[in-house]
Amino acid sequence: MAIAIISDIHGNLEALSTALDYIKKQGINEIYCLGDIVGYGPNPNECVEIVRQQCKVVLMGNHDYAAIGLARIEYFNEYAKRATYWTMDRLSQENYEFLKALPFMYQTDRMIMVHASPTNPEHWYYILSMSDAQMEMQSFKQNICFVGHSHVPVIFNQKAAIRDNISIEPNQKYIVNVGSIGQPRDGDPRLCFVIFEPDTGQINYVRLEYDIENTYQKIIKNGLPTFLAERLLKGY
Ligand code: ZN
Repeated sequence: MAIAIISDIHGNLEALSTALDYIKKQGINEIYCLGDIVGYGPNPNECVEIVRQQCKVVLMGNHDYAAIGLARIEYFNEYAKRATYWTMDRLSQENYEFLKALPFMYQTDRMIMVHASPTNPEHWYYILSMSDAQMEMQSFKQNICFVGHSHVPVIFNQKAAIRDNISIEPNQKYIVNVGSIGQPRDGDPRLCFVIFEPDTGQINYVRLEYDIENTYQKIIKNGLPTFLAERLLKGY
């Protein structure tokens, strides 16, 4: 039975709804969310409520952590900082409690999932290079580690960085960055997530267009930084 792995929604309701509609149409009922449900985007509460209802597993992201007042946001850039304060002011008590209880990691015999890095999920390291990936691979025994955080879809095996759909080998290690639903940064503005077929080992990226214009207008109307709307159009 295939599973869907989504991450980095960032309060983008249009992108999240489009992704979940597609996942349902594929007959997939098991959805995993690797965190950053909020931050940057104009619909944090709506996105948290949908994820709460529809995802089997939800992990803590650094922007979720910031929105509940636990992260040191002096390291955030100006846009992220402003968006975090905006989100804090609006988060409902119920959603605040939900985010506060999120775990940093989920594991099975075959898979490990974190928002940022498996060596130290609470420190929000980025896995960007082959050497980062090789170092991180020493900290887990499973076949696959699914991550988000950088918003850039890529699969690392022990030898290379692959930017394509692949079928994974059972006796090797992989780190799979599933990309971002609500704020892709790989130059492609379409939302991004992964469908994994455990029986065959097939990992497929899904890219879908959504109503970016609507999200764009809501960001502006809510007084969030214009940059956060502009970047959605180009995917950076
Ligand atoms: Zn993120």
